[in-house]
Amino acid sequence: MEIRALTAVELSEQIKKGNVTVRQAVDAVFEQIERTEEIYHCYVTLEKEKALAQADSIQEKINSGELTGPLAGVPIAVKDNICTKGTLTTCSSKILENFVPTFDAQAVENLRAAGMVIIGKTNMDEFAMGSTTETSYFGVTRNPANTEHVPGGSSGGSAAAVAGGECFAAIGSDTGGSIRQPASYCGVVGLKPTYGTVSRYGLIAYGSSLDQIGPLTKDVTDAAALLEVLASYDEKDSTSAPREDKDFMSDLKKDCSGLRVGIPTDYFGEGLDPEVKEAVLQVAQVLEKQGAVVEEFPLSLVEYAIPTYYTIAAAEASSNLERFDGIKYGYRAEVEDLHPMYKKTRSQGFGPEVKRRIMLGSFVLSSGYYDAYYLKALKVKALIKKAFDQAFENYDLILGPVAPTTAPKLGQSLQDPIKMYLGDIYTIAVNLAGLPGMSIPCGVDRKGLPIGAQLIGDCFSEKKLLQAAYAYEQCKEDK
Ligand code: GLN
Repeated sequence: MEIRALTAVELSEQIKKGNVTVRQAVDAVFEQIERTEEIYHCYVTLEKEKALAQADSIQEKINSGELTGPLAGVPIAVKDNICTKGTLTTCSSKILENFVPTFDAQAVENLRAAGMVIIGKTNMDEFAMGSTTETSYFGVTRNPANTEHVPGGSSGGSAAAVAGGECFAAIGSDTGGSIRQPASYCGVVGLKPTYGTVSRYGLIAYGSSLDQIGPLTKDVTDAAALLEVLASYDEKDSTSAPREDKDFMSDLKKDCSGLRVGIPTDYFGEGLDPEVKEAVLQVAQVLEKQGAVVEEFPLSLVEYAIPTYYTIAAAEASSNLERFDGIKYGYRAEVEDLHPMYKKTRSQGFGPEVKRRIMLGSFVLSSGYYDAYYLKALKVKALIKKAFDQAFENYDLILGPVAPTTAPKLGQSLQDPIKMYLGDIYTIAVNLAGLPGMSIPCGVDRKGLPIGAQLIGDCFSEKKLLQAAYAYEQCKEDK
């Protein structure tokens, strides 16, 4: 059996049947890592010995019947902004280059409780700020579909690791598209859950009101299974939402007939690559054939999403990143006096994109400008939420592109940050409104680069997203 060809859920089934051992699964992943990691650079940290030790103890628990879940025994990769006890957690930043947390994030605790084997920490844009994984202090990650191109960001290491077979599944974080966009560029499934579904405890904060952890997987079934593991109510996160409907795998095979799908005309205008447009509209046709009712509608306010998001995200980032001062965590510049030490530590420890966000955030929060920028952005955020609320009165789901283009070439994006920010146009409104969003592979362009379609649902409607995504995936495979 070709172990690496299995999905995460298939692998766990084979392990439970006794056809594959957990150790063999870990070995298979590390064999691939030895072959390709030098080229792709998906990971900041890899821990083979620890993974093998976990494998043996998990195997025992599977054998004794203590672990029975659908992902037991599956090797998984964790984005490097999610705390792992005893394992380096750097946010791909110099300022945290030596930070080893003393606790696990709640999401990581959930992975362990489900019997998943954590094999390493994936590369990302520094502090999750970026759309290409090129702002990492540890160097770029390459897209396995074409190594001249970026994997997307900021969870680029996680997406590339899944696409390149360097793990069976991964988790990432999404503040403005960082799960969905790299999933789309690399041709894997990515899901950003409703805000509050996955605990943010132990996720190093970027924009706390927007951040959410979620799965990156080979297929839709794996995404549902992994979300089931990740989702949990957590008292340690004041924004955690208690949910009764966490059986995300249960509706996968439900019939799509009658599902009302809205296509926002404002998502298909200027700036959208014609090949991406065609591929996404073809998803609509497939869903229509399954009995969904597809209709175009104007979503409105789309042009305000980027300025609103970058104002709010930068404001929150400037506050969240205050704690990295050379005293409590990570890197410290060798200067005697306190204030010069703060200054030098932060000057040397943060990269240019992070500094840009801290400066922008401090500016929009400063007393003279707070009302003009930050407060105004909060008001627009409320209007954007309202526009979605109105749309969901008529539709169960919204279908659109994930990004305007396929993956750009390495080195093309960073010279012009504003242009890079514009690439987030279809993903960030979902975070501003706290909604669930999902990226599913829907073809490749002329150059062979993957294209992703985005499904957006109302709060707490992940099951519907998964149901539609699964229906599309099944049909696609029939062709
Ligand atoms: N590209 C967006 C940004 O740079 C989104 C990042 C994210 O979702 N973490 O802020």
